[in-house]
Amino acid sequence: MHPSLEHLIRLQQLETDASERKRRLAELPARVTEADAALAAAKAARDAATALVAENTATRRAADRELGVQQSRLTKFKDQLMEVKTNKEYTAMQHEIATAEEGVRTFEDQILTLMMQADELTAGVKAADAALAAEERKGKQVRADVEAERGQLEGELITIAAARTEVEGKLPAELVRLFNEGVSKRRGIAVSSIKDGHCEACQVRLRPQLIMEIRKGDRIVQCESCMRILFMPPPAPVPAATTESDRA
Ligand SMILES: [Zn+2]
Repeated sequence: MHPSLEHLIRLQQLETDASERKRRLAELPARVTEADAALAAAKAARDAATALVAENTATRRAADRELGVQQSRLTKFKDQLMEVKTNKEYTAMQHEIATAEEGVRTFEDQILTLMMQADELTAGVKAADAALAAEERKGKQVRADVEAERGQLEGELITIAAARTEVEGKLPAELVRLFNEGVSKRRGIAVSSIKDGHCEACQVRLRPQLIMEIRKGDRIVQCESCMRILFMPPPAPVPAATTESDRA
């Protein structure tokens, strides 16, 4: 194997490690956005529940006023009933009293219904408040987790960058250039292993001559199709002798 190849393989490992961390860093804001959206939805639900209670209260006040009006009418007509002189007046007054009584019953029923609804709506606000508080706690936790993960990943990236500088120092400048060019042009993969006579990255079958040259290690060999630096992975470890459990 070419003496620089192990450093190039290590560089590729570091590059892959770094890009995996960058990808995770890039995903972090979405988690905050998602938590913010859930919080906004919980706030909207709480506001809607509160609005229903306010509406119920307003309707109830109007019904209370109407009930008062009907009750005064009823009292007034009952007083007047004592003073009527004729049968006709008496019948007319009885009719007014019946109408006012009907009005009182109607608003009393409405108020009872509104009171029952108010209990449900108040319970709804309580539930919405609890859900909102839960989302607020969750949002705080998500932010804390995201910040901790960001710190962790940024720290790891610094470590990786330092390791990379160290490995680059062991390589001729033109190989560092070749590697970096490969990374930027070939989706982050500048070094590819050989698998069953193929470039593992682009799947092209390699000429036996190339494979021989790689084994010899006189020069750094690139895939003729994708231009990635090629290496022959060490032979896979021979599977351990069959054990008792395998036979079972
Ligand atoms: Zn290739």
